[in-house]
Amino acid sequence: MTREKTGDRDRRRLPLHGQIAIAMALALGLGGLARATGIEAHPAIVAPIQFVGELFLRLLKMIVVPLVLTSIVVGIASLNVRAVGRIGGRTLGFYLLSTSLAVLTGLLAIRITRPGRGADLAAANAPTIEPEPLLDILLRIVPENPFASMVETFDLLSVIFVGVLVGLAISAVGPKARPLHDLMEALHAVTFRITDWVIRLTPYGVFALIALVVLDTGIGVLLSLVGYFLTVAFALAVHGLLGLPLLLHLLGRVPPRPFARAMAPALLTAFSTASSAATLPVTMESIEKRAGVERRVHSFVLPIGATVNMDGTALYQAIAAVFVAQAFGIDLTLGQQVVVFLTATLAAIGAAGVPGAGLVTMVIVFQAVGIPLEGIGLIVAVDRLLDMMRTSVNVWGDACAAAVVGRAEGAMDLSVLMDGGSSPNGPATP
Ligand code: ASP
Repeated sequence: MTREKTGDRDRRRLPLHGQIAIAMALALGLGGLARATGIEAHPAIVAPIQFVGELFLRLLKMIVVPLVLTSIVVGIASLNVRAVGRIGGRTLGFYLLSTSLAVLTGLLAIRITRPGRGADLAAANAPTIEPEPLLDILLRIVPENPFASMVETFDLLSVIFVGVLVGLAISAVGPKARPLHDLMEALHAVTFRITDWVIRLTPYGVFALIALVVLDTGIGVLLSLVGYFLTVAFALAVHGLLGLPLLLHLLGRVPPRPFARAMAPALLTAFSTASSAATLPVTMESIEKRAGVERRVHSFVLPIGATVNMDGTALYQAIAAVFVAQAFGIDLTLGQQVVVFLTATLAAIGAAGVPGAGLVTMVIVFQAVGIPLEGIGLIVAVDRLLDMMRTSVNVWGDACAAAVVGRAEGAMDLSVLMDGGSSPNGPATP
């Protein structure tokens, strides 16, 4: 009876992704109006919007570590080592395949458009950035102190590593570890409920974040880099609307349209925050409640994806490298393009799921083929907007992986998916 009543109320309310879309449109309109009237820098306007945006980001970041840890421990504890190995293998296989496809799409797009020829590099001003060597990143996955990785450094890969180990140990120990398992399950339920509350605030957070971008960025910078910008945007669209849906359909037999609708809150949050890691709570909730993928799969696939699987970033880095090379009059040989392909894949894996990370690890690609680092100064101007777009594609790639692996493992209920996009927060959890 109560459930029915709630259902009725939910049906009358606008779906969450609709609310977010309206918030975005309002932010664009009001932000544009503020710019047009010249009040875009007034503290009375900027300060409260900044406050709301920052508050929303903090709430999201606050739940990432407990959510990832408890989901992984509880998810893995129901599996044995063999099952974890199988899910892990499938996940990495999909990630490699989709990232390669993304880089190829990017390289193909820039070969066709060639926006770098005739670009003006005079204004280039290289930021001083140093990427971390890949081996160091791998080493850091194993934390010296597991508690520090959770409470001090926001090191998701370490949290995942510890979570998988603890989950496996719980299932290996058996009845004696039952209290710990129950405690983790209770913690997970509580974190998930808090996530649910935070997600209800998404439209307000998205409004503030998008409005800030509009207030901050003029249209002028876009014009000088329009060819480059459009090439990245076009290639991202091709990968997001054709490449990934194709993989989703062929490998998982999952209908792309309803799945995209179910994941819309996560995709829009990714766009607004430009951070896969901060979006993770929304991605996890959407995939479970709106798309019907079970926790034993998504708790593993999604956090790993948010840290290592970045289709949009890899594609963007390949395009940026070739664009700057073209602008400097460097003609990349086929061998050099292969190096761009490989290093862009690695640099995207090395990028953390935070705003602007792809720009930093791009140094790896530039250095590998000998492109002047000053070129990064040129493309920095339009990076925020491209970051928002590529982060959406990054999160979309993670979600597709979770669906494909979920289907292969018999851990995805398609009926939830077909129902999921039509109610504000998906079906009620029992
Ligand atoms: N901001 C992106 C993400 O969080 C990474 C990047 O800078 O490309 O997914």
